[in-house]
Amino acid sequence: MKKILLIVFSLTIIFICNSFSQEYKWYKGNTHTHTTLSDGDELPRRVVRWYQDNNYNFLVLSDHNSLTEIKYLDSDKNDDFLLIPGEEVTDSYNKKPIHVNAINLKKKIDPQHGNSIVETAQNDINAVRKAGAIPQLNHPSWRRPFTDQDIIALKDCKLIEVYNIAKESNNFAAGGFMSTEQIWDKALSKGNLMYGVGSDDAHNYLGDLLNTKSIPGRAWVKVRAKELTPEAICASFENGDFYSSTGVNVVDIKITDKEYTLEIKADPDPFVSFTTFFIGKDGKILKEDYNLKASYQFKGDELYVRAKVFASTGDFAILQPVFLKK
Ligand SMILES: [Zn+2]
Ligand SMILES: [Zn+2]
Repeated sequence: MKKILLIVFSLTIIFICNSFSQEYKWYKGNTHTHTTLSDGDELPRRVVRWYQDNNYNFLVLSDHNSLTEIKYLDSDKNDDFLLIPGEEVTDSYNKKPIHVNAINLKKKIDPQHGNSIVETAQNDINAVRKAGAIPQLNHPSWRRPFTDQDIIALKDCKLIEVYNIAKESNNFAAGGFMSTEQIWDKALSKGNLMYGVGSDDAHNYLGDLLNTKSIPGRAWVKVRAKELTPEAICASFENGDFYSSTGVNVVDIKITDKEYTLEIKADPDPFVSFTTFFIGKDGKILKEDYNLKASYQFKGDELYVRAKVFASTGDFAILQPVFLKK
């Protein structure tokens, strides 16, 4: 068998994680949230309370072109809940929305604009990077500003919202349009390393929390980090050491030079079943595994391998790609 070299950016970190996994913990968080400081219907402190009460460990408040002051919202630095400052840089080109989150931002950024969809998005991404924050391309299929070629062309944006769970985000394939997940695979197949984010983009906290609204708690990320600090969480985002979920709980992920393995937490209901799909270039399904401990042995010619776990409840989790080189 040919020797396979993994060229994941996070290779070293993944191996460190595996070697000292007891030092690392999983933290549940949401990277995309609105309050009354933009078009959300609830005050920041009540929004924060909602996520605290629902067992989240961190939250990014990302109001439109507004950086929320978090000093008085996250006063206890030693508890198990962290607020990370953020903004949804809200731009457009030719009336098409281009929204880029800035995660762990110190100073508000204005939309940068540009002369095309790609230029506008890239200018916003560059501004987020220049400010020392992490860019996240939000809901790329909302009102469909981007073609798959546009997403392939973007640089230096490792986070893409593959599942912004708000209904109008058009996550799924229909009418001849690709799903956001298929667009993600297009970008990966061209070597553009992007990590898939799930978020709820919550706007509505009042009244009946119906799925027709943008309600909290329907998609999130689980980040593996050494500690609950903005720096540690952001380092894991950059390294792809996280997964996104709508309800499936993955308790371990290991990637070596030979295989990609993961462990799913069993549902309390023994009749809930799981399928793990290991996916490669062009979205090709490489293997289906029905076990709680699922694994895939690299052959070497896949270009990349990622995993998706689907539960019989309809919940799913997407795990991050690892790139291979012969
Ligand atoms: Zn948006
Ligand atoms: Zn938003």
